[in-house]
Amino acid sequence: MKKRVIILGSTGSVGRRSLEVLQGLTAQWELVGLAAGSRHGRLAEQACRFRPEAVALASNDGAPDLGAALDYSPRVFTGPNALVELIENVPCDCVVSAVVGAGGLAATVRAIELGRRIALANKEALVIAGSLVMRMARSTGAEIIPVDSEHSAIFQALHAGRADDVRMVYLTGSGGPFRTWSLEAMEDIRVEEALRHPTWDMGPKITIDSATMMNKALEIVEARWLFDMNPDRIGVVIHPESIIHSLVEYCDGSLIAQLGTPDMRTPIQYALTYPERYPCPSGRLDLAGIGQLNFAAPDYELFPALRLGYEAARLGGTAGAVLSAANEAAVELFRNGSIRFLDIASHTERALNKHEFIESPTLEDLLEADRLARHEVTRCVAC
Ligand code: MG
Repeated sequence: MKKRVIILGSTGSVGRRSLEVLQGLTAQWELVGLAAGSRHGRLAEQACRFRPEAVALASNDGAPDLGAALDYSPRVFTGPNALVELIENVPCDCVVSAVVGAGGLAATVRAIELGRRIALANKEALVIAGSLVMRMARSTGAEIIPVDSEHSAIFQALHAGRADDVRMVYLTGSGGPFRTWSLEAMEDIRVEEALRHPTWDMGPKITIDSATMMNKALEIVEARWLFDMNPDRIGVVIHPESIIHSLVEYCDGSLIAQLGTPDMRTPIQYALTYPERYPCPSGRLDLAGIGQLNFAAPDYELFPALRLGYEAARLGGTAGAVLSAANEAAVELFRNGSIRFLDIASHTERALNKHEFIESPTLEDLLEADRLARHEVTRCVAC
């Protein structure tokens, strides 16, 4: 029997690569559902090509165009609750959760409640609601397998020993395009510059997060929940080549790393097929051709976002939701020219400092913290 998979966020960068991976796994997997936020044209194209039994579109605006563009009759869900309805109505073995930002949270939570395996690319689900999500996954038996390349690497390296014997986990980061810049030069960074990533080809929001290193900050919070790890035992190492995707240090001093080409198809496929492995379309690594790998300590002055990541991971509660939401709002303001590059971290920090912290929040508390954080960031720019 083939396993059934739904892709949430199929029109984005990870979603499109998930479809490429599935094309190589047709003997094992069947695509049964596709979901997108607003890009109805691309969703219709994908549906006509892959012919899943259901499609979902979160925006109402594109619904008529989506219906008109389909050349067969899948079940169609549209509107703000469409992704949740897709998860509830179409049985599956695995959900690829690849919606960017907070938009994918409700559907991911619903899939966890239903005990589905989650191939989790939507790091916000853990950053915002880590304590809730992990508790729920433990009670329903839903497996959460990370797609984020660093967390996939750690997940794989953790199979080399016992959890009690882990001393540290190290997240590697390329350092982004401004790794070697001065603080003065960073004052005038333009949007196009922040959208050019040296090693990874990703969507615009995460590319800007890589440039501010907020992406690594969010990954610290993500690792804290995913691996139930004290933030003091999560390290960050700058590694510009993005070949070592992350490492685990054991008590005997052994470092176990996962290496590979910087290609998201490897961790996507592993999250689907774990614990099995299959040939993958991502290229093979030629170590001799690469010649050398470099490492450096992160610069917390150039990249204050990192500090915020540790702060949010230590606080837990609503702090991750505020970090994620304030940053999302600030990145949006940077992209439309309302604030400067360095303001992204300072606006996020202000929202984090000002928010009313709740230690054991409900999902409603988290969504409210998210809303207030966005409001706090945009409010200060408007005045
Ligand atoms: Mg990553």
